[in-house]
Amino acid sequence: MSTEFAVLSTPGRSQEFWFEDGDVVLSCLLPNNRRFFYRVHKFMLARHSVPFAEMLKKEVIAAQCREFVDGAPVVFLPEPAPEIYKLLCCLYNALTLQNPHSLEEEQPITRYDWLLRLCAKYQILPLSKYIIARLKAEWPVTLPAWDTREAHITAMRQQHIAAGPTRRVHNMYLDDRLPEPVMIIKIAHTLCLPQLLPAAFYELARSNPRAEWDALHTVATRALAQNERFLVEGVRSARWGALSAQDMLVLATLKETLSTLVREGWDMMKRLEMPHAVCDTARKGVLDRAKELAVASRDVLYAAHWACHYTTKAGMCKACETNLVRCLATFRMSCWHTLLRKFQHP
Ligand SMILES: [Zn+2]
Repeated sequence: MSTEFAVLSTPGRSQEFWFEDGDVVLSCLLPNNRRFFYRVHKFMLARHSVPFAEMLKKEVIAAQCREFVDGAPVVFLPEPAPEIYKLLCCLYNALTLQNPHSLEEEQPITRYDWLLRLCAKYQILPLSKYIIARLKAEWPVTLPAWDTREAHITAMRQQHIAAGPTRRVHNMYLDDRLPEPVMIIKIAHTLCLPQLLPAAFYELARSNPRAEWDALHTVATRALAQNERFLVEGVRSARWGALSAQDMLVLATLKETLSTLVREGWDMMKRLEMPHAVCDTARKGVLDRAKELAVASRDVLYAAHWACHYTTKAGMCKACETNLVRCLATFRMSCWHTLLRKFQHP
């Protein structure tokens, strides 16, 4: 059972989606094959979806429903209960979903893929449009937007560190709260959204290849020592097993490109003219440390960003400091443009 669902409700009935004035009960299956019920409003489903409107017509219900809970007809849905939960979240809690530019915090949508499939099946067009807008905001094509996203994730990481040894916030680890890149890559291919690919592949390139998302997010394997250690450490996982051979090749060439960029970029910055011995030594210290960071984090954008920040504290004169910071910023931008070019169609 997915952990996002494990914390939601007591067995049998949803706590959140059990309305006393609800006029239909949706019956779905939990992963353990037990039934789970939501008591909701027909108009809420019918308003957004032609298939639901058809299914919930009086005559259809009269002809097909044999079971009632507190007077409300029970309609069986084939989708698993956690999927229906997220669909109901989206339909009922529209206000909390309005800002597509913020990564969700308390109730992350970790499975956009099935939510989009549900939208297609039940023809819920506004919701699928909303999800696509949100995906575009979460996987941006500009470096400033990527940096904003990073600042947000860094703030989330700080929350988990501040939470103490469990590293859990709202009963979730950091990796529970952030979207997984292989799923995004698959959605990008399926829905022809190539603009998601650069950021998603970059995220994948810096994810830990030993941390398999499914193992970390399934109750049965989540508590295994290695998996729990990854979660506590805030390691970012991916669905490595679901990555196609073609995409694995794209990832391999991207990693090669990134390591070439680091090598060339660092050579360039080492050659930067620096007239003062003290500044020259400080520059070497900053670049050596940042290079180690780039290798350890698999994240050259982060390492160069750190170097920009650290340069201002390294004891260089103002002119040399400005020169190196400018050079690092240009290097980051050229890394980003190289990433974008890699996914442009010829
Ligand atoms: Zn100087």
